[in-house]
Amino acid sequence: MSGRLDGTVALVTGASSGIGEATARALAGHGAAVALVARRQDRLEKLADGIRGEGGTALVVAADITDREQAAAAVERAVAGLGRLDTVVNNAGLMLIGPVADAPAGEWERMIDVNVQGLLHVTRAALPHLLAAAENGPRRVADLVNISSTAGRVARPGTAVYNLTKFGVNAFTEALRQEVMTKRVRVSVVEPGTVNTELSSHVREGIREAIRGQVEGMEMLHPEDIADAVAYIVTRDRRVAVNEMLVRAAEQT
Ligand code: NDP
Repeated sequence: MSGRLDGTVALVTGASSGIGEATARALAGHGAAVALVARRQDRLEKLADGIRGEGGTALVVAADITDREQAAAAVERAVAGLGRLDTVVNNAGLMLIGPVADAPAGEWERMIDVNVQGLLHVTRAALPHLLAAAENGPRRVADLVNISSTAGRVARPGTAVYNLTKFGVNAFTEALRQEVMTKRVRVSVVEPGTVNTELSSHVREGIREAIRGQVEGMEMLHPEDIADAVAYIVTRDRRVAVNEMLVRAAEQT
């Protein structure tokens, strides 16, 4: 495995399934050593074995990013184990959707904990390393890519709190982008449409059927389609900053 990310290190949260798994593979395919962060260690080990089997470098870092100390420790383990940090993909996320009036206690907090707090904990810990990589790293540029959603651009009934978290991710991304752009840390947001992953399997009964009805007959995106978008962003020359990518399934409104 070699390419534009040779000599760099990438950390991907939520690498145990779906978009994160595909993104870790893609970045490794471009030559990055990858730190794989999520809670399910067995899944991360399997992915790491696959990446190593293709000639890449992968480090498994099991962590719950909703815990600030675990998130910070995950970043430090990645830097200690792989030597540096040039790219971070804040991908871990949860989508527990349904009407506001019917929401069971705890669902909103769980979503906010992962989609907002988890992303912030990882960003806080990673930023000093990204600033250092932009100054002295092999590419003299660093990347922070936040995975938002079409739900970060368009609010719809039934997804209010998920919208809240993803609109928040978009706003945070844009503000931070302006703070660090002159230091050559590029901060970008990717907004996937409907991707075939485990994401909707966590919603409660009744909502799952409604989602199934919505996507029935639609050709959903593959996780690799979003991994391609992330890889495109982070492999650009340092003079280029792709701030935002909205990638919908072709038949999605
Ligand atoms: P998956 O459910 O397949 O993946 C979610 C990932 O997040 C898993 O690897 C999971 O790992 C990880 N994760 C969840 N909670 C935590 C936690 N507390 N600490 C660490 N990792 C955690 O879904 P997707 O791949 O679809 O989702 C990835 C991102 O893409 C999310 O941010 C989602 O909102 C966004 N997105 C997805 C869309 C889709 O249609 N699929 C559309 C738009 C956006 P583990 O359980 O092992 O911890």
